[in-house]
Amino acid sequence: MSSSIKRDTDYDILIIGGGMVGASLAAALSNQPLRIGIIESTPLTAKTQPSYDDRVIALSYGSHRILKSIGVWNELQHDACPIDHIHVSDRGHCGFTHLSAKDESVDALGYVVPGRSIGQTLHAHIDKQSNIDFICPAHWTALESDSNQVTLTVTKPKTLTTRLLVAADGGQSAIRKKLGIQTKTSNYQQSAIITNVTPELPHQNRAFERFTETGPLAILPMTENRCSVVWTARTDQQQEILDLDDETFLKRLQERFGYRLGRLTKAGSRFAYPLKLIQALEQVRPRVAIIGNAAHSLHPLAGQGFNLGLRDVAALAETIADATQKGDDPGDINTLKQYAEARKQDHRNVLTATDTLVRLFTQPSIPVAIARNKVLTLLDLLPPAKHLLARHAMGIAGRQSRLTRGLSL
Ligand SMILES: Cc1cc2nc3c(=O)[nH]c(=O)nc-3n(C[C@H](O)[C@H](O)[C@H](O)COP(=O)(O)OP(=O)(O)OC[C@H]3O[C@@H](n4cnc5c(N)ncnc54)[C@H](O)[C@@H]3O)c2cc1C
Repeated sequence: MSSSIKRDTDYDILIIGGGMVGASLAAALSNQPLRIGIIESTPLTAKTQPSYDDRVIALSYGSHRILKSIGVWNELQHDACPIDHIHVSDRGHCGFTHLSAKDESVDALGYVVPGRSIGQTLHAHIDKQSNIDFICPAHWTALESDSNQVTLTVTKPKTLTTRLLVAADGGQSAIRKKLGIQTKTSNYQQSAIITNVTPELPHQNRAFERFTETGPLAILPMTENRCSVVWTARTDQQQEILDLDDETFLKRLQERFGYRLGRLTKAGSRFAYPLKLIQALEQVRPRVAIIGNAAHSLHPLAGQGFNLGLRDVAALAETIADATQKGDDPGDINTLKQYAEARKQDHRNVLTATDTLVRLFTQPSIPVAIARNKVLTLLDLLPPAKHLLARHAMGIAGRQSRLTRGLSL
């Protein structure tokens, strides 16, 4: 940290939530002349840690580039399985499309990484930085702000001040609620049930997205020829699926997925996540930015939640670094509005596309089924459209931040 910078607050940036997105932002800013604090309520290794749990994350190609620019990819790649192919199909219908890394001239369309590995790697990186304080377990109990700073009362108790408060405290963000920021919310009445299986045949780094009448089913390749399963079911079916014995569960899964990977064996533990769309209607306020799931919680069908949050991180880190270099205040609303403006289109695209896909592919009606199968088949026959779809899935469509382009801040 540069000693020449005048400091009248405890922190330049105080991040609430040290989950995947909050920790990524701290890591991205670690080489800046800034004093950064992270307040996290749940220890990294706790069973109840809501960010770094048994979830397996499909990182887009663009996200892997951001993590590389931040300096954590070398470590993370040991637990990452590349995705060479993505196969999208509709159960009981003939439409399908197929994306391949070779067609897109990249080493991989993306990578599948356990959430826990992301947590361990980010936090090991943060631990080494002298300008970052990781305050955990800790809660905030009061928040006040004026034109110069945000003041937060934190348990033990203690008062902390910052020029910029970043809310990265997840879908139920208490900071967002405290500030009275409205949300657009839609309950899908669906749950994602996750587990791991081992297929009889080599997965050959293929990811499968299969739409079924009760919701989408994703099978993602993992290391050691395991596969991660994200099975979306109606909420009223959730408990029944969780309670199935392993043999019956695998039989039901096989019925939905088919035999592209041979017999599916060795079901791991199952966990369920209720699915909602939550979209914050404001991303910034004077001295406050809302990022990651706190700004937008998505249905996981397209595996875009963390990828979108990481692009928030890359854009916000760039805005903060530019302001810092010019000697500007990173919490100034005009600075923060530049960030919000830069993120608007990406948020709109991903939220609309994800929500439309969920609704379109869970409609049992025959005309809708015919229409969506036509779309899948057409996509497969039209290389420019498929290429555009691939660039969106890879997180490299539209405006790209410096970190996504492999540059430093
Ligand atoms: C089943 C499933 C599969 C998914 N698969 C993918 C995928 O393949 N690809 C992808 O990109 N995304 C995926 N996602 C989405 C991804 O998990 C989220 O987008 C990501 O976890 C968001 O990270 P976050 O840090 O914003 O929020 P969270 O992960 O919710 O983390 C919030 C953090 O804030 C902390 N916190 C909360 N309140 C407070 C407080 N008051 N004070 C201090 N700390 C607090 C929490 O303890 C937590 O550590 C999936 C989601 C689900 C449910």
